[in-house]
Amino acid sequence: MTDSIRPLREFVVAMTTLVGATGDERRLLAEGRQLLARLIALDDWLPAAFAAPRADRYAQYLLHADALERFSVLSFVWGPGQRTPVHDHTVWGLVGVLRGAEGCEEFSLSDGRPVATGGQHVMQRGDIEAVSPTVGDWHRVSHAWEGGAAVSIHVYGANIGAVRRHRLDDSGAMLDFVSGYDNLVLPNLWDRSAAVRALGLPC
Ligand code: FE
Repeated sequence: MTDSIRPLREFVVAMTTLVGATGDERRLLAEGRQLLARLIALDDWLPAAFAAPRADRYAQYLLHADALERFSVLSFVWGPGQRTPVHDHTVWGLVGVLRGAEGCEEFSLSDGRPVATGGQHVMQRGDIEAVSPTVGDWHRVSHAWEGGAAVSIHVYGANIGAVRRHRLDDSGAMLDFVSGYDNLVLPNLWDRSAAVRALGLPC
């Protein structure tokens, strides 16, 4: 078996070291960004099951959750026409585009409610953005690529699928939500057998 998932394993190991070394959000975002940039520089490691679009809505797949829930790593997949609701995160997060492009609508908070600034931008492959209650936590993300499904890799400062968060419904009402995940099984990060066998086995 090849070890094509190695970049993800190395990212998880480095993030585990980072969250063990600091709880400072500024440092987590700065150093996490460098690690995420390295991870998304190549697009040859994400198993196809975790880059598969859903027909009915965008998909979010858990790739790894820290045992102490200090961080989680996900792939998000948008098919043509799909977008998130306007939502927040409540914890720090980093979003990096692995494949295609994504549109991002910008919001600011006014009296505790998100208000569209009118600003929007497109994130291209390799681009990374930070979210958090400190640096700006509300946005809406949409598919923005004619080449097929768009995929981004996200890391958050919690087990994000189990975090109570907020979103706007179609009427603009603010609702609580817990996103969960779309996968029941996780990618196997830990089959390092090929590298060990390559060292040679006793006869
Ligand atoms: Fe988001």
